[in-house]
Amino acid sequence: MKILNLGGGGFIGAHLTQRLLAENQTVVCIDTHPDKIREHLDHHRLTYIERDIRREDFELDRLIQEADLVIDLIAYANPGIYVKMPLEVFRLNFTENLKIAETCSQYGKRLIQFSSCEVYGKTVAKSFPDKLMNSEDPALAIFSEDTSDSILGPVSKHRWIYASAKLLLERVLHAYGLEDRLDYTIIRPFNFIGPKIDYLPEDTDGMPRVFSHFMEALIKGTQIRLVDGGAHRRCYTYIDDAIECIYRIVENHGRVCSRQIFNIGSPDNEVSIRQMAAMMVDLYKTHFYKPGAPLPKTVDVTSEDFYGPGYEDSDRRIPDISKAKTLLGWKPEFQLKDMLIRTMEYYLSDYDGKIQN
Ligand code: UDP
Repeated sequence: MKILNLGGGGFIGAHLTQRLLAENQTVVCIDTHPDKIREHLDHHRLTYIERDIRREDFELDRLIQEADLVIDLIAYANPGIYVKMPLEVFRLNFTENLKIAETCSQYGKRLIQFSSCEVYGKTVAKSFPDKLMNSEDPALAIFSEDTSDSILGPVSKHRWIYASAKLLLERVLHAYGLEDRLDYTIIRPFNFIGPKIDYLPEDTDGMPRVFSHFMEALIKGTQIRLVDGGAHRRCYTYIDDAIECIYRIVENHGRVCSRQIFNIGSPDNEVSIRQMAAMMVDLYKTHFYKPGAPLPKTVDVTSEDFYGPGYEDSDRRIPDISKAKTLLGWKPEFQLKDMLIRTMEYYLSDYDGKIQN
């Protein structure tokens, strides 16, 4: 198959590009930076085109016409960016992505659209903290693709522009499907983690996801900052598990993925951000610490101080993965501790490499 992998040089995209090539697929990869797929650039079945899809001269039509399958991973996907540049998030994550879907519809191409577990928003427990008998009941935080409601915060909390854009795009795809004008599958990732995720804050404009912030604190002995006490919870999913599921969606045996939405996540790996920080400190001390180096202090910060105004958090989200289990025969294998060690190893080897250079 010839697969157009839009955003194929990002964290998920790079791992997917590697898997697609290993499966003998032909890949056309579009991204703004080749850093994470550098080792594949000479591969005879990979064409890498460095392009921002927002550019006027981007040949979306031709690329989609020439592909058998289109995978769309293009998005801003870090909360710091939703707060800082909400309009740009809407423009890229909705307006530009919509063009991709429309063009797939026009040429009758199958589309795998990456969305987000952010579309579920907050739990009922967060919205009505005093009205529930047991706000800790995990059932309140288990989200299913086809039955769960979305609870997004008010417009004044502009972090939700990301979830709103993703959800609107999903609804448009669904509507195309209803009119039989698009063969699509939507993927909602639940906090994928692994080698190649983000960069250290010092290498970016300071807005990666939490793992990289904590890694920087560990490497430099600076502060681990827990936003609003680190009480919020996430289910971390190792990238190898995720790619296995995504590849089964690419294969689409029996067309079971057509017009379906899939949660991809590890429900058993739920952790609060405070617990994750403590785990990372312990693992670092046990496996990587060099005597004499400074260790980080853990401090609490308000979300306003960390992100600026307009942030509100998704308090808890546990994926219901029964659909992926039933239709794809998939389940995640990796435990949180393993995935943290593997991701830390990657960061440290990369960082050491940079020091030597
Ligand atoms: N967070 C934190 N300290 C940091 C960065 C993030 O406590 O240095 C928190 C953030 O407020 C959220 C969680 O970690 O509750 C996960 O944030 P992340 O940016 O990784 O992405 P999200 O899962 O919200 O999409």
